[in-house]
Amino acid sequence: MTDEANREQPEMSPYLIEPARSGRSKCKTCRRVIQKGHTRIGILIVGPFGPGYLWHHMKCAARRQLAKVEEAYEMKVWADGVEIPPIEKLRVLAEKAEKDKAERKTAPHTEIAPTGRAKCKHCGEPIAKGSYRVILSRGVEFAGQVRSGPINVHPGCVVRELMAEDCTTEPEGFEDALRTNSTGIPPDDVARVLEEIGPIPG
Ligand SMILES: [Zn+2]
Ligand SMILES: [Zn+2]
Repeated sequence: MTDEANREQPEMSPYLIEPARSGRSKCKTCRRVIQKGHTRIGILIVGPFGPGYLWHHMKCAARRQLAKVEEAYEMKVWADGVEIPPIEKLRVLAEKAEKDKAERKTAPHTEIAPTGRAKCKHCGEPIAKGSYRVILSRGVEFAGQVRSGPINVHPGCVVRELMAEDCTTEPEGFEDALRTNSTGIPPDDVARVLEEIGPIPG
């Protein structure tokens, strides 16, 4: 081999699956430590100091970005002898995560009103298109049974609606629930909506 060939940088694979070389790396999905020896997946990004891997637990990556994990499996980005979880198991995890997310989406959460047609169920005034609305749940009696259904309200109407008798969203833990459930909404925007809602009476 010539010197020239030795100096040539090997091209970095877009993914790398390997046992964690130390217990110092943190999973970029759940922010918890990846134990030494635990199989992790690196997703290549080009940062200000050049390319490098962002590490994730295999399960965390599967839950959040299965397509990338599948690509990594197709490319077989691990060394011989590295133990990797079967892709079928990771697919099941991803499916479950999707389902959980869909269920969590019920209430309370905030989202941008896609049209200006819906009215606030608390005050009856329209909710402007493009503004944030808050989804709460309200109990409705139907055929002798009370069922909870989602309702849209203005952020400014949330506190009064939470105090209403037929509201089935709990005031307790409301702020945390809103933050957790409002997936896909920038945290700064959620914080602004919470500010608009004002303090929740305990
Ligand atoms: Zn993780
Ligand atoms: Zn309102």
